Amino acid sequence: MESYELIIVGAGAAGLAAGIYGARSGLKTLIIEEKLAGGTTGDAPIVENYPGFASISGGELAEKMVQHCKKTGVVFRELEPVVSLDLKGEKKIVKTSRTEYEAMAIIIATGAHYRELNVKGELEFKGKGVSYCGVCDGPFFKGKRVVVVGGGNTACTTTLYLSGLAGEVLVVHRKGEFRAEKALVSDIETKSNVKIMWNNELTEIKGDKVVKSVMLINGQTGETSEVPVDGVFVQIGESPNSVQALEAGVAPADDECAINVDMHQRTNLPGVFAAGDVTNHPVMQIGTAVGQGITAALEAYSYIRRPYYRI
Ligand SMILES: Cc1cc2nc3c(=O)[nH]c(=O)nc-3n(C[C@H](O)[C@H](O)[C@H](O)COP(=O)(O)OP(=O)(O)OC[C@H]3O[C@@H](n4cnc5c(N)ncnc54)[C@H](O)[C@@H]3O)c2cc1C
Repeated sequence: MESYELIIVGAGAAGLAAGIYGARSGLKTLIIEEKLAGGTTGDAPIVENYPGFASISGGELAEKMVQHCKKTGVVFRELEPVVSLDLKGEKKIVKTSRTEYEAMAIIIATGAHYRELNVKGELEFKGKGVSYCGVCDGPFFKGKRVVVVGGGNTACTTTLYLSGLAGEVLVVHRKGEFRAEKALVSDIETKSNVKIMWNNELTEIKGDKVVKSVMLINGQTGETSEVPVDGVFVQIGESPNSVQALEAGVAPADDECAINVDMHQRTNLPGVFAAGDVTNHPVMQIGTAVGQGITAALEAYSYIRRPYYRI
């Protein structure tokens, strides 16, 4: 079995930042990634909120992070999904599709996936008007007409955020009321540029090079309509990629199965840390994932080497 001091699962922003700090601290560090390294950052068409880069494609930013991390001497295993974890003993055992590894400490940085609508046109117009993140992409729709799909807290928060940027925000919700906090709903009611389309479902996204319209069906009347819009924000929740960690005894923070971490990125199990979108951190951005990855790596260093001083 290959042996390391630190294993990081997931080579996105959190995992790569952790890798850089782990290797630079002198830890024998391995990153295991089920796809090619880079993570969700690579899915962002344009990133305009990562300090140091006024505007950069997500693909380029992700590649820069990967190359930086590789330079520090981290060992990479790509296209190798982690299938199970044994985390309760002193040695953490990581089983992949290919083999097994062991380490003194582990950082879970497996990210999350946004829930999709699975309607015609969604895949085709991803990044061309279809977005899953208001904070990331809202500023691209200044003064334009956008639609938000969903009826929970995330959809309502995104609606409020977009109401300050877009010309008009249409909210498409398949029920007749929101299942969100009252304060959010009351706030939405005060926004003159927000229109709620109750009992409607979005059935198709249309366009040419970019989104031009959406097809809706009213669940009560069966009536269909085509509504011209510039952007579609799908806000029906996100799921952390935490299955293997939870199966190994890592405690979730809530029903959504995000990994519960403290401010040191520690989980409930000694030597097991988590960082980025897979955790219960309230913000899911590249910058916050990087920050959590750094903390997790430095805490893992203290856990492994147990120096008498604090770094
Ligand atoms: C379309 C889009 C646009 C965005 N735009 C912006 C933006 O403009 N600005 C911004 O700050 N944020 C943006 N975000 C959010 C940002 O990309 C994420 O918050 C951030 O990348 C999360 O980093 P992470 O390392 O936690 O997770 P990820 O980047 O998702 O990395 C997790 C990695 O773990 C791997 N993995 C998962 N399970 C396993 C397994 N079992 N075995 C091995 N590997 C595994 C995954 O393949 C992935 O590479 C955007 C997100 C999306 C989807």
